[in-house]
Amino acid sequence: MTPDLYADIILPVPLPRLFTYQVPAEPEFKHLEPGIRVVVPFGKKKQYSGIIYCLHRNRPESYDTKPILSVLDKSPVVTAKQLDFWQWIAEYYQCTLGEVYKAALPSGLKLESETRVYFNPDYEQSDELPEKAVKLLFFLSEKKVATIGDINDFLEQKNSFNLLQKMIDEKAVFVTEQIKEGYRPKKENFLRVGETYRNETELHEAFNHLEKAPRQLELLMRLIQLVGGAGNALQGKTISRKLLLKEHPGSTTALNELIKKKILEQQAIEVGRLEQWQGNLKEKNTFSPAQAKAYEDIEESFKEHTVVLFHGVTSSGKTELYIHLIEKYLKAGQQVLYLLPEIALTTQITHRLKKHFGNKLGIYHSKFSNEERVEVYRDLLEEKNYQVILGVRSSIFLPFRNLGLIIVDEEHEHSFKQFDPAPRYHARDAGIMLAHRHGAKVLLGTATPSIESYYNAERGKYGLVELHTRYDDIQLPRIVVADLKEARRKKQMKSHFTPELFTEIQNALANKQQIILFQNRRGFSPFLECTVCSWVPRCNFCDVSMTYHKKMNQLVCHYCGHTVTTPTTCQACGSPALSTQGFGTEKIEEEVKLLFPEAKVARMDLDTTRSKKSYQTLISDFESGAVDILIGTQMVTKGLDFDNVNMVGILNADNLLNMPDFRAFERGFQMMAQVSGRAGRKNKRGTVVLQTSSPEHPIIQYVVENNYYQMYRSQLTERHAFNYPPYFRLIYLVLKHKQKPVVDKAAQSLAEHLRALLGSRVLGPQEPPVGRIQNQYLSRILIKFEKAHSPGRVKNIINDAVNTLLSHQRWKYVSIHADVDPL
Ligand code: ADP
Ligand code: ZN
Ligand code: ZN
Repeated sequence: MTPDLYADIILPVPLPRLFTYQVPAEPEFKHLEPGIRVVVPFGKKKQYSGIIYCLHRNRPESYDTKPILSVLDKSPVVTAKQLDFWQWIAEYYQCTLGEVYKAALPSGLKLESETRVYFNPDYEQSDELPEKAVKLLFFLSEKKVATIGDINDFLEQKNSFNLLQKMIDEKAVFVTEQIKEGYRPKKENFLRVGETYRNETELHEAFNHLEKAPRQLELLMRLIQLVGGAGNALQGKTISRKLLLKEHPGSTTALNELIKKKILEQQAIEVGRLEQWQGNLKEKNTFSPAQAKAYEDIEESFKEHTVVLFHGVTSSGKTELYIHLIEKYLKAGQQVLYLLPEIALTTQITHRLKKHFGNKLGIYHSKFSNEERVEVYRDLLEEKNYQVILGVRSSIFLPFRNLGLIIVDEEHEHSFKQFDPAPRYHARDAGIMLAHRHGAKVLLGTATPSIESYYNAERGKYGLVELHTRYDDIQLPRIVVADLKEARRKKQMKSHFTPELFTEIQNALANKQQIILFQNRRGFSPFLECTVCSWVPRCNFCDVSMTYHKKMNQLVCHYCGHTVTTPTTCQACGSPALSTQGFGTEKIEEEVKLLFPEAKVARMDLDTTRSKKSYQTLISDFESGAVDILIGTQMVTKGLDFDNVNMVGILNADNLLNMPDFRAFERGFQMMAQVSGRAGRKNKRGTVVLQTSSPEHPIIQYVVENNYYQMYRSQLTERHAFNYPPYFRLIYLVLKHKQKPVVDKAAQSLAEHLRALLGSRVLGPQEPPVGRIQNQYLSRILIKFEKAHSPGRVKNIINDAVNTLLSHQRWKYVSIHADVDPL
């Protein structure tokens, strides 16, 4: 007798191992292979859908295995390449495969007994659902939402995952709430003449037969009319059920009769929810000579390098070059992934690519509903339509079959790094590893390369192509430095505006040109302060001051989202003299409206762009000229291309540079250069006014001269002197616990253990800038080690030390995570 078959399964739980289950002998389990989803019991009551990692015949010795309950897929939803990639992510970024699984699949593809299932009121019932599902729909239409656990109880069965997966695929139910965008059902019911009646004699027969049922006759005749005559009807042409019933309300019973008699047949047909491109596709633009040269250089460089850094100034036509490249890879039958930072994914770039690639372009974005994301995932898995994916960082987890090129646009952007929860991966770096697995090329594009990437290019690890001129030879904007200290001393400030900025805004408005104002903080003011005793309201759960949002009259914690009504008196001394300190976008908006009452003003930040729609509306209002002045946070700096913006104002450059972080200067330069790049992209040279209290600051000078290279050299010297990347690698170990003494002692003990092994490479522990988040106290250890050291070995040492620590009873409840290559 052959021994039992076992499956090692990835489950979405934060335990660093796989779980072994027994594969039952029944036929439905015969086709199991890695990447297929199965339903398994976990603990006393829970059930999960998990991914098969491997199959084997080694019975685990230390515990009794439970059997798999059921199988969800006929073929893998996670490919072998993906599993291999997951493994790399888990090892490199020091997290579990379960955590990667959680991040990698859209929620419609991962179920657990706690998963909440929502009723879809727009669902049109189809015959494809089994009776149990219909019963369940009634239950859900009453309750609106239930967990899979509840549903198991209701149907009096142990496992409803398969049924639910079917209903999810049918869009009869959702696993996330559909509140945002007004959901259109994906499938619609269509009607046509039934097969047996699709010849003249039989159809005639049907008419005779229906003499006594005038309603049915009427419906049949109307259907024939609507499909464009008997000829079409005989060929089986369809029309929408909704349409027919709209004209004949109250005829549902008659219609169902017709279907029952097989005179009509009903089919649910996909009406693809992601916009279909209808128009003609646009030819690509012809290159300018400089662009043509850059394009050739890129092709040439790819012959020797997997990764090429493309450093092109703002508005040099990088996107144009991407379009040409994408076309080339598509012609060769390969897929392309176009990665953009989250906030830069605008209608603008989508539209620009849609015009060229039509329905071959798929979009993967966190503002899309879960169903839309499942749709893109499945499309790639089944190799249907999409050959170019425009997406945010999580699109590196899509099931590519034949990837030829990854474009990482704005490669310097920090939002490519996932901060919380694990896996804390960098989509650019992970993308390069993904490319290796496909033998694909990677193009990193930006006007302001990250120090790391430029360093890699300078040393020949990456290819380097530079494009220093803007398209159409428009000059880069003139940059005016406005001295805040001076203006304050001379009492020339109008609220937060220096005379220089004020005048330039006036001029631009007079010339009917648009203006972007950049302020790095959202909200009205960073905090409230009591002018009597200096009390500042702080979050109850985190060690940060709360941000004042005037419109909502609320204080909001930007770390945990905790919100309270703005107090009217000081909670410490009772004085009503609370004043706002500092300023955010909301305050600037208010001031601009007062100073320039004739201008139309809009604000773009996290608070005004919660939904996909509001973001698009803001951008199209600005594009169409319905808005004169756009005020925003970093969001306005990212890859936007407006023809008529001639003036950009940076309200306070100092708070960009004064961050306690070794990347502050690099980041400050990048932000200022990027936002300046929005000015004067078409027609005419633009103007930037940069307000600062330290006009002599070298970084400000580099921005004025547009001197990326000097900025890079100066930063490199500092990084070298203080052992930072690109010369050293960094890993943070972050410890959390409800009690401060516990977390401090645990961190102390871990740091000592590590220091014994790694010496002075271990720094800390230290309390991070925000020492408490959501009622958990934090402590942080920094490990810096030479590039030449094997990261694998260092990570093993760290892992062992962490495990030793956690094996002590007293530290058992301390949570520890690593942040590899933190930003
Ligand atoms: P970048 O991505 O470097 O900021 P874009 O590709 O957005 O630059 O180009 C800036 C502007 O110039 C865009 O409006 C673009 O349509 C236009 N442009 C760039 N190259 C060409 C070209 N070869 N032909 C026509 N228009 C171009
Ligand atoms: Zn908080
Ligand atoms: Zn007070």
